[in-house]
Amino acid sequence: MKKHNSIKYIPENKMQASGLTKEEFLETNAIELDQMAREQDLSLEIVWPIMYAEMGLTNGRADPGFVHSEGERGVLPLPSNLSRWTGDPKAPQSEDKIPLEDNIRWFMQYLKGITTSSTYKTWFSGVSASFPYMRRLAAIVHGWGYKGVYSGNKFSVKQAREAAEASPNEADRILKKMGYKNAGKKIVPGRLKNLDHAFDMVEDLGLKSPELPASELSTKTRTSPPFNKNRKAEGETPDEKTVKSIQQLVGLAWTDWDEPEMKLPGLEFLNGIKAATAAQKESKAEVQQLVANSWGQSEKLDEFSNLLAAWAKGDIHATGFDSIAVVDGKSAPPSGPAIVNSNLPRANGEQIAICVGHTLSGKGSGYMNKFVSVKNEQIWNNEIANLVRDILEQQGAAAEIYFRTIGSYSKFTADSASQIRQRQPQCKAAIELHYNAYKDPKSNGCEFICFSTSGGRLARALANSFKEHFPEQRMRQDRGILKLSSGRGTGWLKRVPPPAVIAEPFFASNAKEIRFFDKKKVELAEAYAEGLLKFALR
Ligand SMILES: [Zn+2]
Repeated sequence: MKKHNSIKYIPENKMQASGLTKEEFLETNAIELDQMAREQDLSLEIVWPIMYAEMGLTNGRADPGFVHSEGERGVLPLPSNLSRWTGDPKAPQSEDKIPLEDNIRWFMQYLKGITTSSTYKTWFSGVSASFPYMRRLAAIVHGWGYKGVYSGNKFSVKQAREAAEASPNEADRILKKMGYKNAGKKIVPGRLKNLDHAFDMVEDLGLKSPELPASELSTKTRTSPPFNKNRKAEGETPDEKTVKSIQQLVGLAWTDWDEPEMKLPGLEFLNGIKAATAAQKESKAEVQQLVANSWGQSEKLDEFSNLLAAWAKGDIHATGFDSIAVVDGKSAPPSGPAIVNSNLPRANGEQIAICVGHTLSGKGSGYMNKFVSVKNEQIWNNEIANLVRDILEQQGAAAEIYFRTIGSYSKFTADSASQIRQRQPQCKAAIELHYNAYKDPKSNGCEFICFSTSGGRLARALANSFKEHFPEQRMRQDRGILKLSSGRGTGWLKRVPPPAVIAEPFFASNAKEIRFFDKKKVELAEAYAEGLLKFALR
């Protein structure tokens, strides 16, 4: 860690973050945040929505130790060139571990630096109302003011500023016309909805700084969660803590449903909800499938919220989720980033089954790693499954994702086999995604497990593709292939109709290996997709 002069803060005004959601964080620390904002000639209305959109969360809670996508550490990501923005040569590096209050104060100094920078002078000229001011500042934080993120020299400050004040979908259209790299992927509308939600929240909470000009945006339409957090629970209710967690999950979905990267935290959050009865467990598994398959599909959000609300009221019928759970044999459209790898073979509707190993929790659940933010084996591989599905579909294959929701192993294998038979009668290949673990933290390497008398060629195709993608990784056994006639998931391997393989690409008990692969999810998914396609098209 680098030494730096921390900004002074008053110890008795220490902020609270532990265990708080984004909303609770604002309410709990409103006075300190307001004071900090004023020190930078900013207001909560402007600062809070941006904080809200940028905040690092673990299990839906503000996390002062959060590591953001570029390695920035802290509840808010500080830019790498903070000295430039603040004019303070002693500004911390973005990866430094600093106290929560310092992190937030530096972030506000960064925002202030943007508003006074000559680079962005034209962005703020003539704007006095809080809403457009907040949106313009957020746009710059999101990088919309940087030419490098646009292709084809179509960038103009005027249009970017227009986008910054437009409705979420209109903004996406404007940015797309300019060649913005993240346009057209729901990321832009998602971010703007997030900001607007937080902006409204500051007003609702009465935290709007009194001397600020009124917002110009009276015509702005706003959606609110249908779930009233003050509603009295009726009938047989789950315990208070469960209800609260469900409410928070609904809140997370309402603010971040359009953000693909918020799907995993959503799943993690769901994972933290205690399900005591068998009916609750079943409901939880159904909700989990829904989140996994429908995150980002706006038409599913209301249904999702209403069903969770019913669940929180004690109205627990697993069948209640049938209308939206994946029962029609169709997967959700690709949710991840578009991946183009011209080296991959083109498919022609070949059916491929991607099975996520393990239940989410309880009996049949997987290994919890200690080294990366997503600990749960099922959740970690769920993300990989989505990426593999997206790549396979992009190449013209018909991919389906399957989950294990049944604890009993024999019942699960029978269920999995019948689901594949029903949804993909012409299925060419099945892969079950896992990661390995062992008590020796040095254990390492990749293996693909197949049944002694089937799946050998599929395992070979996958091992070869894995080796090509990750030449530096060790292949265990016979060049990465382990043929078994009993134990370690062979029940599933023999029972499902197509040739099938269990993937154990690395050891999650090995810090170095899991940290490596945690940053290589797309590459790992590509390796799987390539092996599966080569086998299915052979
Ligand atoms: Zn496993």
